[in-house]
Amino acid sequence: MADKWVYLFEEVDEAEKSVGGDWEGVRSLLGGKGANLAEMTRIGVPVPPGFTVTTQACNAYLEAGEQFPEGMWEQELAAMKRVEEQTGKKFGDAKNPLLVSCRSGAKFSMPGMMDTVLNIGLNDETAKGMVELTDDERFVYDAYRRLVQMFGSVVLGISDEAFEDVLDELKEERGITSDTDLTADDWKELTVTFQKIVREHKGFDFPQDPYEQLKLATEAVFKSWFGKRAVDYRNAAKIAHDLGTGVNIVTMVFGNMGWESGTGVAFTRDPATGENVLYGDYLLNAQGEDVVAGIRNTKKIDELGADLPEAYAQFVDICGKLEQHYREMQDVEFTIENGKLWMLQTRDGKRTAKAAIKIAVDMADEGLISREEAVLRVKSSDVDTLLHPQFDMDAKGQAAAEGKRLAKGVNASPGAAVGVVAFDADLAEEWGKGGKDVIMVRPFTKPDDVHGMLAAKGILTSEGGATSHAAVVARQFGVPCVVGASDVSINLERRQMTANGVVVKEGEWLSIDGTSGEAFVGQIPTVEPKFEEETDLITLLSWADEFRRLQVWANADYPDDAARARGFGAQGIGLCRTEHMFFEEERLPIVQRMILAETEDGRDKALAELLPFQRGDFEGIFKAMDGLPVIIRLIDPPLHEFLPNERDVLEDVIEKRVKGETQGLAEQEELLEAIESMHESNPMMGMRGVRLSIIMPGIVKMQVRAIFEAACNMANQGVAVKPEIMIPLTGHVNELKVIQPQLVKIAKDVMAEKGVEVEYKFGTMIEIPRACVTADEVASVAEFFSFGTNDLTQMTFGYSRDDAEARFLLTYVEDGILPQNPFQTIDRNGVGSLMKMAVEKGRATRSDLEVGICGEHGGDPDSIEFCHLINQNYVSCSPFRVPVARLAAAHAAIKHK
Ligand code: PEP
Ligand code: MG
Repeated sequence: MADKWVYLFEEVDEAEKSVGGDWEGVRSLLGGKGANLAEMTRIGVPVPPGFTVTTQACNAYLEAGEQFPEGMWEQELAAMKRVEEQTGKKFGDAKNPLLVSCRSGAKFSMPGMMDTVLNIGLNDETAKGMVELTDDERFVYDAYRRLVQMFGSVVLGISDEAFEDVLDELKEERGITSDTDLTADDWKELTVTFQKIVREHKGFDFPQDPYEQLKLATEAVFKSWFGKRAVDYRNAAKIAHDLGTGVNIVTMVFGNMGWESGTGVAFTRDPATGENVLYGDYLLNAQGEDVVAGIRNTKKIDELGADLPEAYAQFVDICGKLEQHYREMQDVEFTIENGKLWMLQTRDGKRTAKAAIKIAVDMADEGLISREEAVLRVKSSDVDTLLHPQFDMDAKGQAAAEGKRLAKGVNASPGAAVGVVAFDADLAEEWGKGGKDVIMVRPFTKPDDVHGMLAAKGILTSEGGATSHAAVVARQFGVPCVVGASDVSINLERRQMTANGVVVKEGEWLSIDGTSGEAFVGQIPTVEPKFEEETDLITLLSWADEFRRLQVWANADYPDDAARARGFGAQGIGLCRTEHMFFEEERLPIVQRMILAETEDGRDKALAELLPFQRGDFEGIFKAMDGLPVIIRLIDPPLHEFLPNERDVLEDVIEKRVKGETQGLAEQEELLEAIESMHESNPMMGMRGVRLSIIMPGIVKMQVRAIFEAACNMANQGVAVKPEIMIPLTGHVNELKVIQPQLVKIAKDVMAEKGVEVEYKFGTMIEIPRACVTADEVASVAEFFSFGTNDLTQMTFGYSRDDAEARFLLTYVEDGILPQNPFQTIDRNGVGSLMKMAVEKGRATRSDLEVGICGEHGGDPDSIEFCHLINQNYVSCSPFRVPVARLAAAHAAIKHK
């Protein structure tokens, strides 16, 4: 049998069979829109007759150098015949013409793809026939000019402004502002003018042959797959470029046939909050694009109940049916033609992070989906977004009191954003990539603005509503966004906006609140959201906890951080970097004295002064983590990091010498000498970590004493302490054999002194490839491993973790030399293989070896999945990422059951 390139909406069974019964396969074949139109047809939802040209046809067309594959066009013609039978109309017939729309539809919804072409089939003859039929010349010529305009811009690539400018001029001439005030003759005149525009721009006439229209529209959709904006969008949304798009040909139904007609878009639940209410807009006597474009003021969907009660009741019913069928919140488009309701699209609705979480939890509670599905449906990035900063309420109130509030629009995508204004997407991208925080401000956005929207911290538009392009895209990518702030008047030529009597020029600061829909001039400080108020998230994470195997610990250096991490659900502290405590103002001079001491005695004195500080810190952390393990890492960085900058001291010495100042000169010269003597060409590979401990054991001995004194003191107060002492940067087991017994002895001595025994472990960080390769030996001494993947990545790649990103690494990622930044996501093949080897070898020696990760990767969902796969016990990440990690760990466990 010849290849089947075209499926009628009623042929979904056949489509399903051809892909082996799998719904994802049907979506791949027909595209999301086509698959759902067919599915709605199958379950008895009223869909206008039509058909889909497959994504395979698109790929075949593009591969063959823009040639329809054999048999495709014939199948399209045959499908048109069937639609003619179903509708009782004829394509191109002057008396009873069939009109169709042509819509692109890839597997995944892509706002960056080709727009729709409506009213295909109209020409000078059929238009006359339509007038006879409808007795409504105004309606017919409005439809005809729309076809010429859409065909001209979408299919033939003429800029839409060429048409819109003429339309605006005519309205101005007539002294009117609304399209609805134009007469039949006006539309007729515009149709002719629009045809002239086509001729002028393209050198040929607007095609009168309906089949030619259909053919060119089909080709245009195919070609749009590799249009710049589609490619950009796919790159940003990580959609594969080889999927192709379907082409949907759908019988036209008209929402602009009078006041019994209308059209709208709706979500089956509120896409901003997730509340279980219908949410959407509609217009009576209008076509779909009028609603989306925001030209006329739309009405709220529930008002339709009063306007057209029967159609509304049926609509509510269908929305419920679709949600039950798809078990997902739907985003639908509908048209009512003379009282009859038609569904033109349904798809899973895009939503804010907050809504995603609420909908998942509600649907599980409603019994529509399982808890496991609810957990899988929320993306780790949703959790991240929800915990985004918000404006400090007091500061915001004060800004409002000072008259800095410029406008209020629709709260399209939540979160607070502060940045400088850029009035176009290219500039927003340029500034954003250059490291500036940018708020992109536009009257409205179009698909080819997406690159600027992604580079911006926030988006503000003066037009459009909750379902406008800006709103949909911003929500998807978690960019705070306010749309339809109609008090803002934007002057693109003068590069400034005016609102509430304030002029804001390009490059000046703006703060927008995507949660409340407000915009302010200037910078408003932001605050972190309150996790404990996010009850749906807390519920969802409690379900996630039931599925995950990995524990989630946190990296915290101070008692407050530890307490916060625990609040977020951390089950332990995986890394407490003790040296951070050395940098505090009153401690640093003591640390420096300790480093510079010329005698053992002098050093011991300084260490003795430091001990109470460290003990106090540890007591606080143990208390905050009562009952949970706390890993404390012994000093890691090279000592020069605690001393002043060599250059600064040198400059000071020179200045003193030049000015002949003697006061303090000798001390500074001594300091300079000490710093110079510690100089290493390659300090990250120098005397740091365990090496430093072996050469200068006094510091770690003090630290271990402080840890155990703190632990015993807390234990005596009834706190359940579980200290785990971590030795950094081990490369050879002999290093541990030298230092660890000395430290264990101190631990035992302190416990004996304090008369209390606490549970403890000594272990090591795995940060050096050699430690991975010899992990069986290392585990003979170390009682636990924690991967320091920051250093392990640095050492494995040989990339300096401090310099690589600023020099070559981002280019590597952009050019695809590396698939991702290995300092963010674990390089599974390289670094990951070493980790896997370390786990296996380590456990071969010590079967109950506890293994975790405390590098930055511990909070990265992809890396967390890898940690799950190699059987680690836990991941440890920054406190704010703990909720993300809890969810990501559950995703990994469910996916790899
Ligand atoms: C690491 O190297 O991954 C690590 C956690 O240690 P630091 O970042 O302190 O070197
Ligand atoms: Mg390290």
